[in-house]
Amino acid sequence: MTGKTRKCFFGLKVDRQLDGDKMNRTFVDRVMTEGGEGVAIAACMQCGTCSGGCTNIDRMDLSPRTLVLMVQRGEWDKVLQSQSLWLCTSCYICTSRCPRGVRPSDVIEAVKAIAIRQGIENDSTRFNQIFVELIQKRGILFEPELMQKYGGISAMLEQAELGIKLALKGKMSPFPAKIQDPTTFSQALEKAAQS
Ligand code: SF4
Ligand code: SF4
Repeated sequence: MTGKTRKCFFGLKVDRQLDGDKMNRTFVDRVMTEGGEGVAIAACMQCGTCSGGCTNIDRMDLSPRTLVLMVQRGEWDKVLQSQSLWLCTSCYICTSRCPRGVRPSDVIEAVKAIAIRQGIENDSTRFNQIFVELIQKRGILFEPELMQKYGGISAMLEQAELGIKLALKGKMSPFPAKIQDPTTFSQALEKAAQS
């Protein structure tokens, strides 16, 4: 197979797989360095099984199959600008179904990490940043605090009724919880920062 697209009788694209020697190794290697050997990008045969099972495909501008193909081709700008990176819910269905062991979810996580390091900023990166900071601070999430930091007072007021109902049913505490072993948690954070 070649990278050139052929069409069958009904206009379906039948030849999307890229030969190994036509792949942009710079990009493939970069994503593999970030995501580990498990992201076997070169093994993708463009079958589309990942996209077929993706739980958020309706909202994505690039399917997981296309994202993997673009990494193979080195279409880096399109990959980094794709909203799909931030819409992936890390449900791992694509990875569990991929017949070639490509692990598209890990490819997406690796590209996200690179995108953040390259300074890509959007609502999702802001949410991620706030989430991480709050976990670092308490070791456990306190939802009202997340809502206040992310959406401001107006978001808190909007959700106040729901929050009170959840608190009355014991589904959410009105006070921040404490973790049982802060020392072990701090050690885990330090280890993660070094890796
Ligand atoms: S399921 Fe695997 S082999 Fe098929 S397109 Fe997706 S990543 Fe490629
Ligand atoms: S991990 Fe992401 S890309 Fe894979 S099926 Fe779930 S939402 Fe789709």
